[in-house]
Amino acid sequence: MYRSHTCGELRSSHIGQVVTLSGWVQKSRDKGFMIWVDLRDRYGMTQLIFDENNSSKELMEAAKSLGREFVIQATGLVIERESKNDKMPTGDIEIKVTELKILNAAKTPPFTIEDETDGGDDLRMKYRYLDLRRSPVQKNIIFRSKMAIATRAYLADEGFIEIETPNLIKSTPEGARDFVVPSRMNPGQFYALPQSPQTFKQILMVAGYDKYFQIVKCFRDEDLRADRQPEFTQIDCEMAFVHQEDILNTFEGLTKHLFDKILGVTLSDFPRMQYDDAMRLYGSDKPDIRFGMEFAELKSPHHSTDLTSTQAKAGDLILVLCGEVDKTRKQLGELRLEMGNKLNLRDPKVFKPLWVLDFPLLEWDEDAQRFFAMHHPFTSPKKDDVERMLNGDHETMKALRADAYDLVLNGVEIGGGSIRIHDKELQSKNFKLLGFTPEQAEDQFGFLLGAFEFGAPPHGGIAFGFDRLCSVMCGSNSIRDFIAFPKNNQGRDMMIDAPSLIDQTQLKELSLEVKS
Ligand code: ASP
Repeated sequence: MYRSHTCGELRSSHIGQVVTLSGWVQKSRDKGFMIWVDLRDRYGMTQLIFDENNSSKELMEAAKSLGREFVIQATGLVIERESKNDKMPTGDIEIKVTELKILNAAKTPPFTIEDETDGGDDLRMKYRYLDLRRSPVQKNIIFRSKMAIATRAYLADEGFIEIETPNLIKSTPEGARDFVVPSRMNPGQFYALPQSPQTFKQILMVAGYDKYFQIVKCFRDEDLRADRQPEFTQIDCEMAFVHQEDILNTFEGLTKHLFDKILGVTLSDFPRMQYDDAMRLYGSDKPDIRFGMEFAELKSPHHSTDLTSTQAKAGDLILVLCGEVDKTRKQLGELRLEMGNKLNLRDPKVFKPLWVLDFPLLEWDEDAQRFFAMHHPFTSPKKDDVERMLNGDHETMKALRADAYDLVLNGVEIGGGSIRIHDKELQSKNFKLLGFTPEQAEDQFGFLLGAFEFGAPPHGGIAFGFDRLCSVMCGSNSIRDFIAFPKNNQGRDMMIDAPSLIDQTQLKELSLEVKS
């Protein structure tokens, strides 16, 4: 038996018991005749005491040899601590050690395993197993685990089934580049890693599994901006025979449940905002509504306002920007957030979720001179816009609205989804608008278009960014803190040193170019 109790468990009620603990040496203090050792495991910390008067010479010597992060097993009597420490749950007791076993020695760690460490980012990522021992990191990883378990419980209760979809697939366009994997058995051909399980979950709807979910890894080969990871996790869901309203209600329910279960926070019903209003009032499709400062348009094509409508009072600051509408709104949006930061109006302990609804279906790209799907190519136009989509001109296309929605929390997009197209003709038309030739559409999405000919039910879904949801709920702005083995800003795993070169034999097997 390595341990009778954990290092976080013992209280004054255990005084008088002989116990055995195993763990890592956090630190030791050697006064010569007396040695104190803090022993740590993931449950907490317990103080061990070695006393020259009651211990053999060998025991004292073994205790003196202990360095930071040694793995040890100690047996002894639980006694009342002389100077109690009310900051530690085990602070009322200590263990008078009678037996000590060094299970494994440790090199001095390259940074301190303390809440506030002296290790820089790169070092901590290289020695991630040491960083993971630190209590704040551990708290985040445990938080994430609780979130995943509570998500599964809630969705299972709502009748969802968890289905795994493959990781070696064909490209699914979600607006990013694919990671690709060469196929040895099919020379010159490549799989793509899923940017999301989008097409598979829609196929599952055609197959009749009307409430699907999965906590799933997604891969996007994007230029890394701060706090983006090339692989990240989504709570991915899809439902059949539903309208937008059903999806919003189900996932508002999930969000409220997670806040309640995990944080003990009761959220009231989420407000809803049209995309157009979010852009007009906040210059962003993910407005942070923890504070006001909505924009007032001083002059717009529709109406003009003089300065007294800004509702400013004496002493207030009015910031005025002018220029091209979209750019000006975006800049003013950034300025608004900066003012919010400066004035401490963005309290991470205050949670203000909202739904942003009715996104445009298409986005015109002036440089590429083509439309892109605002959400993805499978998103349905609003019912009233279907006719205009099938027959409208270029300008009409710009004004089409989609049954697409985002869940926004404290200025961060937590989730997004849409009602999907389930009709082959409409889907083909959408591909055409997005610049696909019929052959390209068939080549890439023939399987989906084909499935739509065999009884596709009306369906829709949503995906939550799981890493991000965890970080926002904990008031952190780093998703990395919630991923056990994250990559750095260059997309590298510093611990295993990946990506890396592969040898010539492997390259040859994969029919890839062999360097001379
Ligand atoms: N697949 C979408 C995404 O990853 C979410 C969805 O439409 O369900 O953003």
